[in-house]
Amino acid sequence: MSQLQPPRGTHDLIGEDARRHAHVVETARRVTASYGYEEWATPVFEDTRVFSRTLGDTSDVVTKEMYTFPDRGGESLTLRPEGTASICRALVTNGLTQSLPRKVFYNGPMFRYERPQKGRYRQFHQIGAELLGSADPLMDAETIAMGYAILRALGLGGDVTLELNTLGDPESRAAWRAALVAYFRERAEALSEESRARLEANPLRILDSKSPQDRALLDDAPALEGFLNEDSRRFWDGVRRGLDAFSVPFVVNPRIVRGLDYYSHTAFEFTTTRLGAQGTVLAGGRYDGLVAEMGGPQTPAIGWAGGIERLALLLDAAPEAPATIVVLPMGDDMTATAIAVTQSLRETGLRAELDLRGSVKKRMERAVKANASHVVLMGDEELARGEAQLRDLRLRAQRAVPLADLPALLAAER
Ligand code: ATP
Ligand code: MG
Repeated sequence: MSQLQPPRGTHDLIGEDARRHAHVVETARRVTASYGYEEWATPVFEDTRVFSRTLGDTSDVVTKEMYTFPDRGGESLTLRPEGTASICRALVTNGLTQSLPRKVFYNGPMFRYERPQKGRYRQFHQIGAELLGSADPLMDAETIAMGYAILRALGLGGDVTLELNTLGDPESRAAWRAALVAYFRERAEALSEESRARLEANPLRILDSKSPQDRALLDDAPALEGFLNEDSRRFWDGVRRGLDAFSVPFVVNPRIVRGLDYYSHTAFEFTTTRLGAQGTVLAGGRYDGLVAEMGGPQTPAIGWAGGIERLALLLDAAPEAPATIVVLPMGDDMTATAIAVTQSLRETGLRAELDLRGSVKKRMERAVKANASHVVLMGDEELARGEAQLRDLRLRAQRAVPLADLPALLAAER
């Protein structure tokens, strides 16, 4: 049989890759907790309607990227392509819509049938945050500030630009949309084939087009700015003032329209030039209609998701594997004592491993190879005195230490 391979667009997380990934998740968990967020976990597959109803019939995710399949009972299920719809579903089905606001952090794998390339996979992972039940533009600013705080905590503050836009409320957007359709219809021959097909169904998406043909038409296309009603304008001002108050630098980019259909008012992306075409690392916006579409009451909400693989690629240095302490008894009759010592180190929170097999020389070589910081050598004579030899592999020093003192001593040296 030929060698099995992982499915295209998936990858294993091992060694340094696993540590980079965990570092991103742990940093996000710590920072979001400091903003009062609680962590939720939802299933990786959902009733297909959770996504088809909400992401928009014309969005790329729904039309081309979803992993949808009937299960053995005939239900249509979909591997989640993103987290926001699931969190809104969970809010509604757990009866939590009366206990708002809720601040939710999540992380986990997402699935999209895309063309794999650097920073773009079929199973990838996201960190995400949703603030459910707040209509205050200052909260948009705080949510974005929290994303920025995570990027800074990862050492990426200097590598990213916050690009900000407003999509207005549905009324403003409808007026703008009509003007866009009229503009592009007059220039339909000049549009790419894909954009021409989208013209009536979703003209906003043309603004996001990567085709040079379409881009040439964008400069003179009507801007939303001119169609914002009073409420939308006030909201937009509030978000920008809020970002100033939180000291988050941004640039306004009218091209930021986002790939999913459920956004209104705020839309934003943190981008970097360090990842080629896959430059968006954390992005989101306001989605006031989504909870209602899930069968709940009208609930204003704002959130974002960050791509863990892209963030992990950007980290300067991979976090180091924590050093280990090797406990090495020199005779079989010492196994019980060696176990007790190892357990006492672990209970102190230290990383400790027993090595019982092979010659002392072999075991010392293994300890060095495993990048151990210390070896606890247990010989007859020391043990009779209730002591062991503690060898510091970094300082290349060795001394006798009472067994009872080992945990405190090693914890202090960590
Ligand atoms: P893109 O324009 O890069 O396709 P998107 O608009 O589809 O992104 P979102 O749905 O907003 O992305 O997801 C948020 C983040 O998740 C993205 O900014 C990116 O960092 C990451 N992401 C999205 N799709 C993938 C993927 N296929 N592989 C790896 N990371 C991804
Ligand atoms: Mg995409």
